[in-house]
Amino acid sequence: MSLQDFSLDYFSLKGKTAIITGGNTGLGQAYTVALAKAGANVFVVTHGTNWEETKELLSGVEGNAEFHQADLSDREQLKKVVPACVDTFGTVDILVNNAGTIRRNPLLEYKDEDWDDVIALNLDAVYLLSQAAAKVMVERRAGKIINIASMLSFQGGKFIPPYTASKHAIAGLTKSFANELAEHNVQVNAIAPGYFATKNTAPIRADEKRSAEIISRIPAGHFADPSELMGTVVYLGSKASDYMNGHVLAVDGGWLAR
Ligand code: NAD
Repeated sequence: MSLQDFSLDYFSLKGKTAIITGGNTGLGQAYTVALAKAGANVFVVTHGTNWEETKELLSGVEGNAEFHQADLSDREQLKKVVPACVDTFGTVDILVNNAGTIRRNPLLEYKDEDWDDVIALNLDAVYLLSQAAAKVMVERRAGKIINIASMLSFQGGKFIPPYTASKHAIAGLTKSFANELAEHNVQVNAIAPGYFATKNTAPIRADEKRSAEIISRIPAGHFADPSELMGTVVYLGSKASDYMNGHVLAVDGGWLAR
C-alpha cells in the first residue's frame, strides 16, 4: 500500500461476514451493531431467543443479520455454529468470541461446577470456535479473530478464580493462534475491556462501596458505556489493523495505566 492508497475505506466492513457470540446483550450487542453499521453481515449467536431489541437496533443498518441460538458450553451445539454461518452467508471473515460468564464466590467455598461452567464457556468454547473459524479463514487466506479478554487478563481479582484463569488464558490463546495463523493472513487480537456497565458488572455496581473504590481508580472516572467499544471492534475487524497481530488491546479508561 502506498500512502496515497489509504482512505477511510480501510475501516469499511462492506461485504464481510462476522460471527458475534453473545451478540444480543451487553458488550456483544455493541459489537454486533458496530460491525453491521460498518457494513458487515452479522451472524449473532445467542444463548436464548430474546432477539427483539437487537433486531430493532439493526433495523435500517447496512449489513444483513441472522440470529442463531446455541449453548456454547455444549460441544455438539458449538460445532454447528461456523457451518451454519457459512450456509447462511457463504463464509466467515470475522469471529468475535464475546460470550462469557462470571461466578463470584470466596475461593475456599468455590464449587467445582462453577469452575467447570466458566472454563467451558470462557476458554474451551473460544478455542473450539476459533479453530473451526480458522479452518475457513486459512482456506481463503484472510480473516480476523477478536477475543474478549478483561482487566482480569492482567490482574488477579478476588472471588472469581476461573474467570481470572480463563481471561489470562485468553491472552495466551490469542498469541498462540496469532503466531500460527499469521502466515495465512489471519490476524488474532483481543480486546480487554475495563469496567463497563452491563449485566456482568451489575453486582459490583450495586455495591456502593466497591463501585466507588473502582471508579476512584479509573482515570476516566466512570464505568464505560458499551458504545465506547464500537470503534475498537470495527478497527480490529478491518483492513486498517492488518499489521496488528497477537495484541491484547485494553479499552479501560486508563485503568491499567494507574
Ligand atoms: P453479558 O452477561 O451481557 O454477556 C454475556 C453473553 O454471553 C450473553 O449474551 C449471554 O447470553 C452469553 N452466554 C452466556 N452463557 C452462554 C452459553 N452457555 N452459550 C452461549 N452464550 C452464552 O455481559 P458482558 O459484560 O456484555 O460480557 C461480554 C464479554 O465481555 C464477556 O466475555 C465478559 O467476560 C467480557 N467483559 C466484560 C466486562 C464488563 O465490564 N462488562 C469487562 C471485561 C470483559
